[in-house]
This record gives sequence, C-alpha cells and structure tokens, in this order.
Amino acid sequence: MPDNFEVPVSLPNTPIRHVRLLILGSGPAGLAAALYAARAELAPVVLSGTELGGQVSLTFTIENYPGFPEGVGGAELGDLFQKQAERFGARVEFASAYSVDLSQHPFKVGTDNGEVQAEVLIIATGASPIHLNIPGEAELTGRGISYCATCDGWFFKDKNVVVIGGGDSALEEGLFLTRYASSVTVFHRRDSLRAGVVLQKRALEHPKMKFIWNTIITEVVGKEKVEAVKTKNVQTGEEGLFQTEGVFVFIGHTPNTKIFEGQIEMEKGYVKVDNHMNTSVAGVYAAGEAADPNFRQVITSAGMGAAAAIEATKFLEKADG
Ligand SMILES: Cc1cc2nc3c(=O)[nH]c(=O)nc-3n(C[C@H](O)[C@H](O)[C@H](O)COP(=O)(O)OP(=O)(O)OC[C@H]3O[C@@H](n4cnc5c(N)ncnc54)[C@H](O)[C@@H]3O)c2cc1C
Repeated sequence: MPDNFEVPVSLPNTPIRHVRLLILGSGPAGLAAALYAARAELAPVVLSGTELGGQVSLTFTIENYPGFPEGVGGAELGDLFQKQAERFGARVEFASAYSVDLSQHPFKVGTDNGEVQAEVLIIATGASPIHLNIPGEAELTGRGISYCATCDGWFFKDKNVVVIGGGDSALEEGLFLTRYASSVTVFHRRDSLRAGVVLQKRALEHPKMKFIWNTIITEVVGKEKVEAVKTKNVQTGEEGLFQTEGVFVFIGHTPNTKIFEGQIEMEKGYVKVDNHMNTSVAGVYAAGEAADPNFRQVITSAGMGAAAAIEATKFLEKADG
C-alpha cells in the first residue's frame, strides 16, 4: 500500500462486521497471537496483508527456530503457523487494513473486506525492506532489482549478481543466490560485516562470493533491465562502474505502522509497548517487528504475539466481568 494511500474507515456499500479480536498481520507475531487467541476460544480474525506468512515466508530456510534441528523452509514454517492457528478456529482473511480509528471503542478498522469493529486489536504488521532511494532503483525494480532472493533468485541462473548490505539477511540471501548465480558480489559500506559469526565464515569462505568493502551504490544503470551499478568508495571517493545483471538489496527494514500514526504512541516508527505488549491505547496490543527495533527474529516476534494474545484474553475476560 503506498504511504499516501488513504481510504475512509467506512467504505460505501460494504458491510460492517463486529469481531472480538482482530489481528493485523499474518507473520510469526500475528499467527502466534492467532494460535493463542483461538485456543482461548476468541475466534480471532487475522488480516494477512499482502504478504501471507510475513517476511518468514520469503526466506529460503530458517535454521534458528527451535524444534527443527535440520532447519525449516521459510514458506513451510509460515504455512505450519497458519494451519496450527486455523486448527483451533482462527480465521485468516487475505485483506489489508487501510485505516484505523482507535479513538472510540470498539475500534474501527477500514479493510479490503469492509469495516471491521474490534473489541481488541493486535498490531502485528511487521516491517518492509528499506529501499536505496537512488537513481534507477524505482524504474528497474522487478527488472533486475529485487528485495527477495528466495522469490527471484531462480531468474539469475549463471548470472553475476550484486548483494547490497552487511547484516544477517544480506549474507543469508547472498549464500542462497550462489545456488543459481555464477558470482555474488557483496557491496558493503563498512569494512566489516554485522552478520553473525557462523554466517560470516560461511559467506567469506564461499568460492562464489566476493566482497567489496567501504563502497556504496550510487545508481543502478540499465535501459530495459539492470546492466550495471555505479559505485563509490566512501573512504577514497573513487567512483566506478560494476557490470551486473541483478541487484539484491538487504539494507534493513522499516516498520509498517503508518496507519497508526497520531493514534497511538510510537518511537522512530515503532509502536511503543510495555513488557505486556500494551500500547498507549487500552485494548490495543502490538507484537513483532512493528513494535521491536531490537531483536527482529521469528522466535522473538512469535513470543511477542503469544504474549499479546494472552493479555488480550485477560482484557476481554475483564470486560465480560
Ligand atoms: C531475508 C530475511 C531472512 C531472515 N532470516 C531469518 C532467520 O533466519 N531467522 C529468524 O529468526 N528471522 C529471520 N528473519 C526475520 C524474520 O522473518 C522476522 O523477524 C519476522 O518475520 C517478523 O515477524 P512479524 O510477524 O513481526 O512481521 P512480518 O514477518 O514482517 O509480517 C508482517 C505481516 O503484516 C502484514 N501487514 C503489513 N501491513 C498490513 C496491513 N496494513 N494490514 C494487514 N496486514 C498487514 C504483512 O502482510 C505480513 O503478513 C529474516 C528476514 C528476512 C527479510
């Protein structure tokens, strides 16, 4: 949804529904919340947003989620989360929320499927990739620029690709790309990586991976598709042109919280929560990357989701007397 896209809470000719618990987002936080709320017999409704399963389902493999000693496919894990929540009565709808009104109770949420009025709301809208905001990026996205190796890696069979970033995601996805690409060159603006030690070792030792340090990309060049990137060494100022057919950007994420601005307390775009997942509005909870600038993992997001649902259950029990 574009940032400036505004839809009124109540769309004409759409029915208004009342639900006890509405969960925005179907990533690990949203689906873990749904599982706990469903088991508390709250019949939660989950709006999936445009990314069913969240970021995890775009990831090739997850090796650090407990219970899977051999690792688990990201899409498979997302699917398992959903099935487990549905088994107990959660309902996952393929729809997004466009607007919220938290000033009155029940809360009003404008969605693709009409207005939903919710007694309790759990915000689990996660985060989206940060863009480079350089010339050529918008024009060539989908024509060689990608933010998801699992989704697009296959298109770069025997091609030379570039990865931008130096954290866990950049290296994980870079390693995944070595399955297809003939070479993967990582451009990092610093002289050392932020990624975990195990991942660094694997990437630095991989014969298909190369690293160019202290260098940023200033422009993506190409007419119909990506042909090269313009580079600049941040220490020497030296500029260059690097031929490549694919550019994969992994420079971090920004929380999907625009629609809550002005209605709820936030800090640097993240919804502020206490350690019970309470937001500044009673009956509204937040979990996962929408509220977490620190850990940003599947397990921590799922944990926050579970905690939010436990608190939401208590809130409703109290309201019911
Ligand atoms: C490439 C990559 C590799 C990763 N590897 C690992 C790893 O190995 N291990 C690990 O633990 N973590 C990993 N992570 C991080 C992990 O995926 C995230 O921490 C986790 O998915 C966050 O869960 P979440 O539920 O908070 O949000 P997300 O997964 O971001 O899900 C957000 C959900 O909200 C929905 N949404 C957004 N806006 C709206 C709206 N307006 N209305 C309704 N729904 C909305 C989206 O469609 C989505 O379903 C990786 C991430 C990436 C990008």
